[in-house]
Amino acid sequence: MSKKYVYLFSEGNTTMKNLLGGKGANLSEMTNIGIPIPMGFVVTTEACNKYYDENKVLPKEIVDEIHEKMDELEEITGKKFGGDSNPLLVAVRSGARASMPGMMDTILNLGLTDKGVEVLAKETGNARFAYDSYRRFIMMFSDVVKGIPSSDFNGILDELKDEKGVELDTELTEKDLKELVARYEAHYEDVMGEEFPQDPRTQLIDSVTAVFSSWDNPRANIYRRLNDIPSSWGTAVNVQEMVFGNKGDTSGSGVAFSRNPATGEHEVFAEYLMNAQGEDVVAGIRTPRPISELETEFPEIYEEFVGLLEKLENHYKDMQDIEFTIEEEKLYFLQTRNGKRTAHAALKIAVDMVEEGLITKDEALLMIDPKQLDNVLHPAFDEQAMKDAKELAVGLPASPGAATGKIAFTAADAKARHDAGERVMLVRQETSPEDIEGMIAAEGILTVRGGMTSHAAVVARGMGTPCVVGAESLRINSENKTLIANGEVYGEDDYISLEGATGSIYLGEIDTVDPEISGYFGTFMEWADEKRSLKIRTNADTPHDAQQALDFGAEGIGLTRTEHMFFAEDRLFPMRQMIMATNEEDRRKALAKILPLQKEDFKGIYETMDGKAVTIRFLDPPLHEFLPTKQSEIKELAEELEVSVEYLNDVVDDLHEFNPMMGHRGCRLSISYPEVAEMQTRAVIEAAIEVNKEKGLTIIPEIMIPLIGDVNELTYLKAVVTETADKIIADSGVDLKYLVGTMIEIPRACVLADEIALEADFFSFGTNDLTQMGFGFSRDDAGSFLKDYQDKKVYDFDPFAKFDQEGIGQFVKIAVEKGRKAKPELDLGVCGEHGGDPSSIEFFHNVGLDYVSCSPFRVPVARLAAAQAEIRNPRKK
Ligand code: PEP
Ligand code: MG
Repeated sequence: MSKKYVYLFSEGNTTMKNLLGGKGANLSEMTNIGIPIPMGFVVTTEACNKYYDENKVLPKEIVDEIHEKMDELEEITGKKFGGDSNPLLVAVRSGARASMPGMMDTILNLGLTDKGVEVLAKETGNARFAYDSYRRFIMMFSDVVKGIPSSDFNGILDELKDEKGVELDTELTEKDLKELVARYEAHYEDVMGEEFPQDPRTQLIDSVTAVFSSWDNPRANIYRRLNDIPSSWGTAVNVQEMVFGNKGDTSGSGVAFSRNPATGEHEVFAEYLMNAQGEDVVAGIRTPRPISELETEFPEIYEEFVGLLEKLENHYKDMQDIEFTIEEEKLYFLQTRNGKRTAHAALKIAVDMVEEGLITKDEALLMIDPKQLDNVLHPAFDEQAMKDAKELAVGLPASPGAATGKIAFTAADAKARHDAGERVMLVRQETSPEDIEGMIAAEGILTVRGGMTSHAAVVARGMGTPCVVGAESLRINSENKTLIANGEVYGEDDYISLEGATGSIYLGEIDTVDPEISGYFGTFMEWADEKRSLKIRTNADTPHDAQQALDFGAEGIGLTRTEHMFFAEDRLFPMRQMIMATNEEDRRKALAKILPLQKEDFKGIYETMDGKAVTIRFLDPPLHEFLPTKQSEIKELAEELEVSVEYLNDVVDDLHEFNPMMGHRGCRLSISYPEVAEMQTRAVIEAAIEVNKEKGLTIIPEIMIPLIGDVNELTYLKAVVTETADKIIADSGVDLKYLVGTMIEIPRACVLADEIALEADFFSFGTNDLTQMGFGFSRDDAGSFLKDYQDKKVYDFDPFAKFDQEGIGQFVKIAVEKGRKAKPELDLGVCGEHGGDPSSIEFFHNVGLDYVSCSPFRVPVARLAAAQAEIRNPRKK
């Protein structure tokens, strides 16, 4: 039997998301559980992949199958596609496995033709409605399928409204709309050189093809990259009988959430418009009405609507986001999906649903994308600073968080200025999918028009970017680059601030304060901690970062990069002196200056961590990050060292490396100059002895040697460490335990991990360097070409951001196996950037590491990701 590419909704169910896409699978499921939906069929994601396999041609077998299903749909509905009576019109929508709001395209009223529109007008007795539907269809089809911009058609509409002296679309008469259709068709013919297609079946096949083709448009590609969606998934296309919300005053359209998507409150959250199609509600062109007005106007419909919404939420056990249409007082649901929500709302909903008995704790933990937690952790405005803040306007609170930036009036401008290092606030009339890059670049997004479900609101919530929409008292002119508020004019150089949780917009820059974990967030994180077996440490180089990480739940420090302590202006100097010293005596002089600074730093960190594990990594400075570049700096250094500028220039030349990332760094530096390791050991040990004494703690410092490729490197340096440490401890007369471990970040170390383990108390995988050395991609240079790899789909992701489990993962696996075999009690962790990436964390859990270490703000993300990994692949009995 040949493969099946098209399914009626009644042939699918919710488990078929991969094949039918999210929307198609849910429409099927809704059919099965008795929700009133207009019938239709799905062209599968496999058909999409086939379309790409065949060089963007829809194969005949699929075309034939679509026609067959259309015949069946005609039978089911009792209507005729392109018929002379009772015409069947359809909506064609994309529907990928994961929802991609605003990224793909929709065509409504498909099937209308010059002849069909007359039939529709006659049969409904509503010619105005028929022509309005037709002109919308011409515009959407032209835009989505043929690439004629919708702004052309909006221009024609505005022109006609001017001629007729009216302001609202609804004021146009039937005759005007007929005229509008004629002008739209003429424009189509002008651009395309042929008449607007009058065969509904051609319209249908062209539209399905266009949806498939839009899977690869730049906006979709950007969204996918941002959300880790592989291009191989493809999209499905849903073809569904049209019902009309624009058939008059007893018809309407709306969107609804079963809970409040901004706060998580358990209340119906919906907006609608009477005499309108769904696009009118989400496009933000007319401001929608709150659902309470529907309750007053049509109480029976409202009751049915609320009942169905609850039924769906109970069925899916998650907050639902639906679209509905009322056609002459009959209610239809057009689609449902798990609703996007702010991180705050997500947490509240998850905790509430457990408390309502709807879901288990494990289900609650799996409900939240760990990356979304990032958003709860963002700063809010400082209350003190708010006292002086001047409010410019208030809009709708679309996506929470505090943001400050200079006004950018276009997305392109926002992106360019962000890339140049400026903090920008994107301020638009309303946003559209073309604006995506500017939205990503902006600190916050402000729109003058639109509701809580407008493009700007939905996308900003998804990205976790603070956003205020519908600030209708503002006037903007993006050509003149002016924003007018309360009669005052502001421009590109002015800062504005917005508070996404309240909708307030303020003038100027406002200070922010850091967030804290409490309330239902705290409860949720406690559940995650009960569940997980991976421990979560943090990468912190200062007491401030360490404190931040502790507040977020870190259980220790997995990496202190000691070289980072020397980036500050006043410390760079002794560090440079040390690096540039050409003999041991000079080096020791410089190290003597560094010692007290380092010791104070370590004491601060130990005190903050209050007895929790602290891993201090010995100096690992790629030399180029520390060499002086300016002649004035060289001159100053020459004076200090009492040598000539020429001599020092020669030293800089000598130290120059062609490939510093693989040069004289890591343990190599201390092998050349063991006095460096000696000084650092002294600082680590003396600081621990002092803090233990002063604070009554029993700190066991963990000394970590970087960039080991051979066991002899470790043996050599370990001897320097233990000799120094043991002497200090003996002299102090107190007892102090300490550990000496190593980073595993060179492929050779992975394959020889059994030998290295015998010398090490612990391993910490440095997956940044391991990725660099394993791929042979320079960490400093790969950025410039990895973008091409992703654009050309050679790689789906950047291996420096998301761990390459398939390849580099093999090295980690080998090292874990060999290391544990040689020394079963070996402690294993990871401290590369991947330690904060959820999918990478799942891998580290699965290979049996003891902990991951990540930057402070990622700690909650890691705690949740670790719990999810445990649920999917339990380690605990
Ligand atoms: C690593 O290489 O993964 C690591 C943590 O060390 P650094 O990034 O400092 O080289
Ligand atoms: Mg490294």
